[in-house]
Amino acid sequence: MRRMQDITDTFILKRWWRLRNQTTLWGTFLKSKYCRRSHPVGKVAISKDSHGWKSLMRIKDKAEPHMIWKIQKGDSSFWWDNWSGMGALAKILPRPGKSAKLNVNSFILNGEWNINKLNNTLSPHITQYVSNVYIGDNSKSDYPVWNLTENGQFSNQSAWNLLRVKSNKNHFIRNVWHKNLAFKVSFNSWRLLRDKLPFSDTVGRFASNLRFDCSCCRIAKNETSHHAFVTSETAHRLWNNLGRPLGIQHSDAPVSFIFRKWWEAKSENKVHKMILQITPTIICWEIWKQSSGCRYGTQKKFNFTRKEQQCLWSLKHAINSLALCLDMDRQWPQLCQMIELLRPSPVITRVLWQKPCQGNIKVNTDGSYNPSNGKAGIGGIVRDSNGNLIMAFSIAVQCNSNNTVEALLLSSVGNGVHCKDTLISQLNLTLK
Ligand SMILES: [Zn+2]
Repeated sequence: MRRMQDITDTFILKRWWRLRNQTTLWGTFLKSKYCRRSHPVGKVAISKDSHGWKSLMRIKDKAEPHMIWKIQKGDSSFWWDNWSGMGALAKILPRPGKSAKLNVNSFILNGEWNINKLNNTLSPHITQYVSNVYIGDNSKSDYPVWNLTENGQFSNQSAWNLLRVKSNKNHFIRNVWHKNLAFKVSFNSWRLLRDKLPFSDTVGRFASNLRFDCSCCRIAKNETSHHAFVTSETAHRLWNNLGRPLGIQHSDAPVSFIFRKWWEAKSENKVHKMILQITPTIICWEIWKQSSGCRYGTQKKFNFTRKEQQCLWSLKHAINSLALCLDMDRQWPQLCQMIELLRPSPVITRVLWQKPCQGNIKVNTDGSYNPSNGKAGIGGIVRDSNGNLIMAFSIAVQCNSNNTVEALLLSSVGNGVHCKDTLISQLNLTLK
């Protein structure tokens, strides 16, 4: 999802690009209003300037480093256009008299840089850098190149990528998603953890004195999301009835803390881990369903037993999908005990080397790659149809991924077989 501010800034940057390199009625008006004696890059916005001009002034420092002017006849501004690739020279050199009217062609003599004049104006190391800038066809005007695209043309996409604020990925919230949960169930927890569910505290940010009466308590209270999902009588019973058998005590902490407590609890095996991950999401889905049913539907009060049964049914359904031999008719506490005691059973498979058919040879190969130091190696063994060793090889190679190792291996084996004079009618190649 794109931030509105980033999109607005992208279009402001596009306007700046047009102002700088196109002759338009709008651009001419702005330049004659604000830049009669100075260069747009050197201007500073003041409070009485128009909103549009101030937004251009705000964005220009982000745009200018990427707007490189290619020198041809040298009509770019010597001090203010970014033709050297280092940015505006006026901002690099603390020196007075940086006229906007001084053009680059004042420093070009017969199609080449006037080194003496450059030396008198710039410091030696900048002169050395600048004198390497290529001078193009001196019959044509200088032109800008947008260095964030391959073709040098400005694009909104590149500008947006430049300006957008990248949010830190929240790894914690990813736990709401699980393949055994329906999208709407996970999405509900995602909304809850981001304060996006409509309760009196979240909607109250936009409308004062807003109050929803809860249906979860015997005496109705103000239904904030914290109340509905954490402190209400039914929420307490639900979290405790499902959590205690797993060793998790409920508290009146913020709901994100409760989720974290479940997700960070030590798990004994994969099934236990899945239960710890999906239970908070299932509980919150059931609470949300009943809360909505009471507020918008025909339901009058929370039905705790039905809600607990629904949670248990969802949990048992998820466990069933793992095809375990567990007695699902047991009570939840006993089922939890059984799940915690589950241990992976080792499966032993006998692996035998199969001889190739008569007249064939078989090449067994393998490649390895260590991403930490980039070292890689390939090796293999060639045997005939009786299992006798014909040859074996082991080679150190240079590559940048394990897939490349496998590709190199194929190529080496292919070349090796091709170079041998031996007539091989059938090759049986096994990659491991
Ligand atoms: Zn309540």
